[in-house]
Amino acid sequence: TLTVGVIAVQGDVTEHEMAIRRAARRHDVDPDVREIRTSGVVPDCDMVLMPGGESTTISRLLRKQGIDGEITSHVEAGNPLFATCAGLIVASRDPKDERVRSLNLLDVSVDRNAFGRQRDSFETQLRIDGLETPFPSVFIRAPLIDAAGSDVEVLAEYDGNPVAVREGPVVGTSFHPELTSDTRLHDLALFDTDRLY
Ligand code: GLN
Repeated sequence: TLTVGVIAVQGDVTEHEMAIRRAARRHDVDPDVREIRTSGVVPDCDMVLMPGGESTTISRLLRKQGIDGEITSHVEAGNPLFATCAGLIVASRDPKDERVRSLNLLDVSVDRNAFGRQRDSFETQLRIDGLETPFPSVFIRAPLIDAAGSDVEVLAEYDGNPVAVREGPVVGTSFHPELTSDTRLHDLALFDTDRLY
């Protein structure tokens, strides 16, 4: 069976688990979905999702539990990681906040609460590479990606800035794909990665 891990030290975990199960059904898979709060679980996972929440808290707990290095090894071995919102901040090369110990898995720099200063939360329909029709995208105190390296593929933009990116097996979004019933992005980032390369 396929094992999918959801980082569950803090943040919105349950919605992602439901989205993962629904996305997997399209492929007739019934994955073993595990919540990751301690070290030793990531090495058993075929794919990992790092959800939104509070990036300073998530990064502190990942380090404390010794999960940070396991995620890095997971990605270095070419396994999928889907990082959303605060998860994207933690995965970024430069979160521009010394309280966030970045995992440096996506060559982007982010401005943690840039969208939040404009509007706390909003929903918009985004065109996303790999999806045929627009995707309903919920932004909640979302990070703005203000620079992306040359190996980073921009999958979607909002107001001229990247809001969905991919580098190798890592997909990151500024917004929360788990908060609508549309599971196409979970599918693309975790189960259907062949379509991304
Ligand atoms: N602004 C939050 C942070 O910096 C992220 C917001 C979210 O995940 N919804 O961690």
